[in-house]
Amino acid sequence: MSEQLRFDGKVVIITGAGNGLGRQHALMFAARGARVVVNDLGGGAHGGGKSSASADAVVEEIRRSGGEAVANHDSVEDGPSIVQTAIDAFGTVDIVVNNAGILRDVSFQKMSRDDWDLIMKVHVNGAFSVTHAAWPYLRDKGYGRIIFTTSGAGIYGNFGQANYSAAKLALLGLANTLTLEGRNRNILVNTIAPIAASRLTETVMPAELLAVLKPDYISPLVGWLCHEQCTETGGLFEVGAGYMAKLRWERTRGHTFGQGLKWDVEQVAAKWPKVIDFDDAEHPQSVNDTVSAIMTALNARSYGG
Ligand code: NAD
Repeated sequence: MSEQLRFDGKVVIITGAGNGLGRQHALMFAARGARVVVNDLGGGAHGGGKSSASADAVVEEIRRSGGEAVANHDSVEDGPSIVQTAIDAFGTVDIVVNNAGILRDVSFQKMSRDDWDLIMKVHVNGAFSVTHAAWPYLRDKGYGRIIFTTSGAGIYGNFGQANYSAAKLALLGLANTLTLEGRNRNILVNTIAPIAASRLTETVMPAELLAVLKPDYISPLVGWLCHEQCTETGGLFEVGAGYMAKLRWERTRGHTFGQGLKWDVEQVAAKWPKVIDFDDAEHPQSVNDTVSAIMTALNARSYGG
């Protein structure tokens, strides 16, 4: 049996930790010695209402098991006050798990401005606000682990979730840049796309599937990505039901029209099979890989094959 990977001395903020995945993350971190800020607004799955009960219950559960935790009942839109709770209770912050979320599912045709704005506020502004408030502490101490929670709906799209899809993929964009800005300060940033039974999925998945998609199957990946021994950063992971895998971009070799030569819509149509041919594909990892492809195009002098 390998040695337990522990979080003694580490302070973890988990947003939306009163239910579902966040609750499991909180229990996992606390059982491994972390001091945990259990944030949860305690509202409904669609963003209405407010209650301290769910965050308090998780804190109570952690304390009964001998762990250390405090509750915070603010919305993630008020990141500074959530981080202040960590500072007041534990003096610092080491790990931020951006997990809080709601749904406002409706077809794009019927989506109201409120449906759009609320989802952006909670997922995008909320993750920004908490992470931005924690960032100076992580930078100053030269240590940090940050998790963003995206969704397959963001990566691939999902009917009735235009607002949620846009918000969830915005988090990946944020994570990609924080990966670069955090790297030389030992702030490592990763994104998970989970699938698990929770009140967000209970209305859209059959009961027999929900029974095996346990939310506690997600937390071990979060624990590893947040551990000091893990050097992974900038990763995107699909996780659920005991499965976990990393995703990356894939780009065709494409076609380059030579500089100085005239080409038009017809030539694009003619070369289309090559533009979309993933045989011998590349896996660009940074904006430099885009720039280098463009530079190659600038240097190309002929139409080529
Ligand atoms: P959940 O509803 O069980 O938990 C979400 C928690 O976030 C709730 O306790 C809720 O009160 C809290 N919350 C909502 N708005 C908040 C706010 N403004 N401030 C603070 N807390 C707030 O749902 P879950 O399935 O555990 O979802 C956790 C995260 O995982 C979400 O970001 C969700 O989008 C994402 N996700 C879940 C699944 C899945 O299959 N369950 C799939 C993809 C992504």
